[in-house]
Amino acid sequence: MVSKILIANRGEIALRVLRACKELGIATVAVHSTADADAMHVRLADESVCIGPPPSRDSYLNIHQIVAACEITGADAVHPGYGFLSENAKFADILDAHGITFIGPTAEHIRLMGDKITAKQTAVELGIPVVPGSDGEVRPENALEIARGIGFPILIKATAGGGGRGMKVARTEAELEEAVSTARSEAAAAFGNDAVYMEKYLEKPRHIEIQVLGDGEGNAIHLGERDCSLQRRHQKVWEEAASPALNDEQRERIGEICAVAMRKLKYRGAGTVEFLYENGEFYFIEMNTRLQVEHPVTEAITGIDLVYEQINIASGKGISVEQKDVVFHGHAIECRINAEDPRTFVPSPGTITTFHTPGGLGVRIDSGAYAGYKIPPYYDSLIGKLIVHGRTRDECLKRLSRVLDEFVVDGIKTTLPLFQDLVKNADIQAGNYDIHWLEKYLASTSA
Ligand code: ADP
Repeated sequence: MVSKILIANRGEIALRVLRACKELGIATVAVHSTADADAMHVRLADESVCIGPPPSRDSYLNIHQIVAACEITGADAVHPGYGFLSENAKFADILDAHGITFIGPTAEHIRLMGDKITAKQTAVELGIPVVPGSDGEVRPENALEIARGIGFPILIKATAGGGGRGMKVARTEAELEEAVSTARSEAAAAFGNDAVYMEKYLEKPRHIEIQVLGDGEGNAIHLGERDCSLQRRHQKVWEEAASPALNDEQRERIGEICAVAMRKLKYRGAGTVEFLYENGEFYFIEMNTRLQVEHPVTEAITGIDLVYEQINIASGKGISVEQKDVVFHGHAIECRINAEDPRTFVPSPGTITTFHTPGGLGVRIDSGAYAGYKIPPYYDSLIGKLIVHGRTRDECLKRLSRVLDEFVVDGIKTTLPLFQDLVKNADIQAGNYDIHWLEKYLASTSA
């Protein structure tokens, strides 16, 4: 049983988890850095503990402080949100050693999926289709031979990768050496690990991911897909469910492949199996062993609260629904609203003077922002997520357009104007885009 949850995160996701806890009647503990003393997640939690100075490594990534906060408050479980310690196997191990429940998968599964090479090998063993590529790590001395075997263009990726860092494309043999060496140094700088591997570079794929839930005992289901193809620098900007590219039969097939794989793995908790999708084929790229930023679009079309499910699974109550009871209703789109210049994407921290959120049927806003809130410069620039639901994609787009016009954030720059443009774009309206579409669009509109 879980009776008091410490939320080891900040911002909109800390608030998101807190809301689920309140509805489930579970007590909450917020943790915060000195920079976040006025944050909404701190104000709304039952208790709060300051865990250190602003830099993440001294606060939100400080395992000892977080464990101490659990001990002081008597929290019996930790929800890690996304980012920070959510995919840190050592953190899961330490909580376990203290008899505190980690709301997430086993440390073993976090490790397995956290390394991209073992993740891919595991995917193959579980019957999940993968991108053709190297069998494991690629060293500079054997790079050319391996690349020739796969065929150009080649993508070089960090085995410890995340957030699109340490990734380089080599279109020809001549570009290979430099691409491998840049990818290795970027990987070393970002992850303290310079190991890289290779994949066939897919020219025009979509990014389609499957949401899964497992009870840790061998029961698992899928909750359909999310299309996250609209990306800038490999970062998702706009996500939707269902994917405009899939039909029911394709959804059922890939969803079932993932659910079967999670049953075999005895996966516990929420997870996302990420694929690139091109010409009707799915290619596994990675699995995220946590709740994702874009999870609300799945909640919108299934009516299932993923945080409830995570907490119930961690409490040993299993998954609340069977696969046959999962029904998809309508269409949902999420826009990530960042405190950034909508053209240059330069962060725009500062004080929000006006924060007027839209409303109406099918509108959800997950945000810790409010008028008077000062955005600290230390963390990522996501200030909120706007999720809109409609009975059809067309209805959803029309609603989104109306809602974006109502949203007012003053005092800082935000990416809202970008979404106002995107929602009116013919390719977006037709669902006709791949993972490169947004970059090309941004390049063409800034000229
Ligand atoms: P990260 O963990 O760094 O986010 P991913 O493996 O999830 O890395 O890939 C991030 C993004 O990079 C994908 O959504 C896609 O846009 C692009 N990408 C990854 N692998 C390939 C590939 N083989 N071919 C083309 N693009 C790719």
